[in-house]
Amino acid sequence: MKWALNLGRVAGIKILVHWTFLFLIGWIVFTEMGRGSDLATTLLSVGFVLTIFLCVVLHELGHSLTAQKYGINTKSITLLPIGGVASLERMPESPKQELLIAIAGPAVNVVIAFILWLVLPPLTQIPDEAFFARVTPANFFYLLFFVNLMLVVFNAIPAFPMDGGRVLRALLAFKLGRVRATQIAANLGQILAILFIFMGFFSNPFLILIGVFVFFGAYTENMMVQHLDFLRGHLVREGMMTNYVTLTPENTVRDALEKLLMGSEHEFIVELDGNVVGTLTRSQLIQAVKEDKTNTPVAEIMSRDFETFDVKDKLSQAYTALQKTRSPLYPVLENGRLAGVINTDNINEFIMIKSALVH
Ligand SMILES: [Zn+2]
Repeated sequence: MKWALNLGRVAGIKILVHWTFLFLIGWIVFTEMGRGSDLATTLLSVGFVLTIFLCVVLHELGHSLTAQKYGINTKSITLLPIGGVASLERMPESPKQELLIAIAGPAVNVVIAFILWLVLPPLTQIPDEAFFARVTPANFFYLLFFVNLMLVVFNAIPAFPMDGGRVLRALLAFKLGRVRATQIAANLGQILAILFIFMGFFSNPFLILIGVFVFFGAYTENMMVQHLDFLRGHLVREGMMTNYVTLTPENTVRDALEKLLMGSEHEFIVELDGNVVGTLTRSQLIQAVKEDKTNTPVAEIMSRDFETFDVKDKLSQAYTALQKTRSPLYPVLENGRLAGVINTDNINEFIMIKSALVH
């Protein structure tokens, strides 16, 4: 995620704060000022929110460290005004692992709430509205206890891809398999997301943001799982393009521009006697034109650092790689020599044809 402040690493995981987080702090300061609060009260409110987000980081670490036990690393944990996101490098395929990883987050908040309950003196009376209205040094940790309980309750809502939704998918997957389970969980997630958005207009506007986040999250992850299912059992050879334009290292930027204008390719493979020596994207070409290098051989501006696939590799592997790196295309080799190219458009077409055949 762009525009994030790096707070450092915990257990090797980068902790990032998204810049929109400043809005949340600004909003709190603004609200306190509107109430005519003094500096100490305002700082206490800000401190309270930061403490909540410390609990959120611990919650996300609960997910990440459990995932690590199954060999799944976490790239980063990002704090947004609506909560935290742990970016796991992949989702576990086994329902049991997904179930435990999903539960581990809210379990951390249960532990925090339990510790607070143990150490805090019991309340002498049932808290009224005024008790919850503002943070004071006297109620700080009691409020923190209630917030942790709320985090548990909120995350239990089965709105995929929120924790409760992941638990639901894992449970369904035991019986129905991952593909069908994801479909059901994502549909329910989207219905609940619309409900969040609707409720957000009448209560907390943060619900609108969470609703939008859940809606698109459910859509994207469901698509991904359904697509990977269509690709199952197919090889890169079946989805690759064999009819494409290549360049040689001596071709100039001008030659490449001509080919760019003539054909539909946006990226090129640079080949020498059947061996791939580099790749060249449209933006690299445009950059070269800006630098007045139209007569320069493409060998000087191409990327020499590129990944390749073999015709016998799984198509699903290429799909995942293309999604992750946003690399526009990969050369496909057979016995070490260029046999074709593969990009996201190719694979999407392959999926469209497969799904048309199924229905
Ligand atoms: Zn969570």
